[in-house]
Amino acid sequence: MNLHKSPYFRLTLFYVLIVMTISILFSVVIYNISSNELDSGLGHQIRALQNMNQVIIIPRPTQEIEQIRLDQLEQSQNSLRLDLIYLNLVILVLSSGLSYFLAKKTMRPIEETLKAQNCFTADASHELRTPLTAMKTEVEVALRDKNINLNEAKSLLKSNLEEIAKLESLSNALLKIARSQETVKTNFEPISLPEIVTEAYEKIEILARKKSIIFENHFNDLAVQGDHQSLKELFVILLDNAIKYSEVKSKVIITIAKDKKQAIITIKDHGIGIKASDLPYIFNRFYRVDSSRSKQQVEGYGLGLSIARNIAEMQDGVITVKSQPGRGSEFKLIFPLYQS
Ligand code: ADP
Repeated sequence: MNLHKSPYFRLTLFYVLIVMTISILFSVVIYNISSNELDSGLGHQIRALQNMNQVIIIPRPTQEIEQIRLDQLEQSQNSLRLDLIYLNLVILVLSSGLSYFLAKKTMRPIEETLKAQNCFTADASHELRTPLTAMKTEVEVALRDKNINLNEAKSLLKSNLEEIAKLESLSNALLKIARSQETVKTNFEPISLPEIVTEAYEKIEILARKKSIIFENHFNDLAVQGDHQSLKELFVILLDNAIKYSEVKSKVIITIAKDKKQAIITIKDHGIGIKASDLPYIFNRFYRVDSSRSKQQVEGYGLGLSIARNIAEMQDGVITVKSQPGRGSEFKLIFPLYQS
């Protein structure tokens, strides 16, 4: 790596430059003040000696005395200059080490964010390319077939339409990811939790009906301060997952309860559950548990929970999960209560 292009090197240099500019400026000020004080101090001493000389020794000529004073002053100034140069050299060595350490500390979170961003772009490109490649291959094969009939052409278009729907849902999810990170707090308003959960349920009701999933609600009439649209999105994601990852006719329990100054919302399903080894990663973007298996069975891109966590954190909330494979999962949300 080219050393002068390395961000660590540049940042270290920048910090050292700041420290050394301040140190040299201080040294110049100290040097000037000390020189003046030395000068006037020597003047006092010589005048005192002259007064003594009048009494005990033969007085020396004024020129000679002035020369002694100037020599003394120069000697003291030289020694002060040398001390300050040594001090600045020590500061240079110390500040270089410290600046390198600080530069590393400053750069680490930036590098991690960049790495995550690159990972995200690579994953997103991969997910976008998969349906595009499928569509391209199908169209190419169809174009090579000179005897293609209307039914075959229609089935090709139908298959392409499915891939387009996947692309649409992926681009929507990507857009939601971006939006979930920029919730503006000025849009915040008091939101009734039972009302917002009911609104979210209405959006996924049809899926629940298809799988005959039973919902059991234990609602306390509590409110939080937040962005209406984002909170609804958050509950839609959690309820949708509870349905997606549950067997038919299974039960989902939603509880809204109060704990001191907090609202606790739990969504407990009795579905397939999540292995302990996967739990730390399910909130990561594009993470899907055993993706080859769940991709065949359940549609999704592994973006829902990442959006959900962004939304919860933007509204000063926390999202946690407990799960046991084969027994179900419980997602818990904690928000500060709205106090009117
Ligand atoms: P998606 O559902 O689109 O795959 P999510 O980010 O919502 O993406 O979820 C990430 C992964 O976490 C899912 O692939 C699934 O394996 C697991 N998961 C999420 N919610 C549940 C749940 N309620 N029960 C079991 N597994 C779940």
